[in-house]
Amino acid sequence: MSKSWTQLRERIVLSAERALKRTGSVGPLELLQELGFLYSGHVEGWTKGIPALTPIEPHIQCGAEKLAEVYRVFSQWVEVKGLKTVEAEYSRRGVGGVVALQVTVDGNDERERFFRTHCAAAELTPKKTERLQQKLTKAPDLVVFITVADDAKCSECGGEIERGEFLFLEQQRPLCIVCADLDHLVFLPAGDTAMTRRAKKHSPLSAVVVKFNRSRKRYERQGLLVSSEALAQAEDECIADADQRAARRKVAANYRVVIDQRLVEQMTAAILEEFPHCPAAEARQIAAHAAERGSGRVGRSAAGRELDPKAITLAVIAHIRHVHTDYDSLLMRGVDRQDSREQIRGSLDNVLGRWRGE
Ligand SMILES: [Zn+2]
Repeated sequence: MSKSWTQLRERIVLSAERALKRTGSVGPLELLQELGFLYSGHVEGWTKGIPALTPIEPHIQCGAEKLAEVYRVFSQWVEVKGLKTVEAEYSRRGVGGVVALQVTVDGNDERERFFRTHCAAAELTPKKTERLQQKLTKAPDLVVFITVADDAKCSECGGEIERGEFLFLEQQRPLCIVCADLDHLVFLPAGDTAMTRRAKKHSPLSAVVVKFNRSRKRYERQGLLVSSEALAQAEDECIADADQRAARRKVAANYRVVIDQRLVEQMTAAILEEFPHCPAAEARQIAAHAAERGSGRVGRSAAGRELDPKAITLAVIAHIRHVHTDYDSLLMRGVDRQDSREQIRGSLDNVLGRWRGE
C-alpha cells in the first residue's frame, strides 16, 4: 500500500474525529468539509437554495477513487467505534414551506439516506440523542438575500431587483420582497443581540438577511426581517432595561427609517378616499409603511408615488392580510403561499368590504 493512501486514511479518521468532537455528530458532508474536499461556503449556499449549488454532490472536489476511499474508511471507522446513527434532514425554509435539499444528482433514495446519516458517540444518553435528532432535523430560518448582482429579476412580477435590494428564493426562483409577501416586515440590522433576540421572539414571521461577501466568498448575516410591532415591542423592552436616553438615541439612530412625510400625508388621504371606513390611524400606518425609503414597497414604486388606486389597494390588502388575518402564522407554519391566501380570502374580503363601506 502506497504511503499517500496510508496518509489519506489517517487524515480521514482524524478529520472524522475532529468533526464529531466539534459538533457532536458527523455525516459524509461534514467529513468532506473537514477534509477540505467540499468548500463550506458551497454547502452554505446550497442550504440557502442557490440554484448553481443544487444539488451539492458535483461540488465535491475529489477524484472518484479517493472519494470511494473516504466513504469506505468513514463507514469502517463508524463500525469500529460502534457509533450511533441519527438521520439528519437537509432542508431549507421557503415561504412555500420547508423544502428538502437534494444532495445527489440522481436523487437515489439509498444514496440520499447515506448522506443524511450522521454518527454520534455511542455513549450518548437517550435524552441527548433526542436533542441531537431535533437539531439535525430542524428546518432552518427563512433566508432573504441582499442582492449583489446587477441583473436580478423577480420571477413573478418581472420587476428588476436592484443591487442592494432584498431577494427571496422560492424553489430556486428569485422573488422580489413584495411577491414573496415579506414586504410588511422591517429590517433590523445585526449587531444588537438583545434587540435581535427579542424582536425574533415577538415576530410571528421572521427571516434572516444575508449578503454574499465576494472577497471572503461567504454569506454574512446582515440582520433580521421582523414585523414592525415586534420591533417596537423589542425596542420598548430594551429601553426598559437600559439607560433610557442612551437607548432611545441608539434606537432612533439605528432603526428608524427615514420617511417622506408629505408622501405619507398624500397616501393617507388617498387611502381614506378609497376606503372611507378604514380607521384613520391604520390608514396612516399603511401609508407610512408603504412610503419607507429603500424598502421596495408599493409606496416607493412609480405607481405608488402617483397614488395609483390599484397600488393603494395593494398596500391596503397587504396590511389587512398581515394585521387582520392569520396569514403570517400560516406562512410561518409552512403552509404554501397560495393555500394561505385561499384560507384567509374570506376574512380579507370582509375587511375590505367594511372599509369600502359596502
Ligand atoms: Zn415581484
